[in-house]
Amino acid sequence: MDHEGGCVCGNVRFVAAGEPLRVTICHCAWCQRRTGTAFGTEVVFESGQVTVSGEVARYRHVSDQSGRWLDIEFCPRCGTNLGFTLEAAPGLRTLPAGAFDDPSWIAAERQPFRHVFVRSRRAWSDLSPLVETYEQHFRP
Ligand SMILES: [Zn+2]
Ligand SMILES: [Zn+2]
Repeated sequence: MDHEGGCVCGNVRFVAAGEPLRVTICHCAWCQRRTGTAFGTEVVFESGQVTVSGEVARYRHVSDQSGRWLDIEFCPRCGTNLGFTLEAAPGLRTLPAGAFDDPSWIAAERQPFRHVFVRSRRAWSDLSPLVETYEQHFRP
């Protein structure tokens, strides 16, 4: 089953083949800033499952905590968040749940779903009882 999506201006389109490994809802301060809201919702795939077409811009962020990089991808025309790759998880990439044309298949009942870094969760961002929560990352 292919899942398609893209940016708001239509410049970038993507197709994800098959099911994701997991869905991570990240409440860290960095995800709050890069998304401009309470958390990032990242659908995690193996890189080979995802095909991206159109011009994509990248920004490399180096964590001041871990010293490792994350490459954020976004549309250079409209700025839509298109997920990231990270040094800590080679061979994987994320796509943001909200950028799929029809995100209704993304559900806590269907995929492993986790809230991480809830230590920096905003008080106005409620947690679903269907989803596991971790103060920091689920990887120790
Ligand atoms: Zn765009
Ligand atoms: Zn985060």
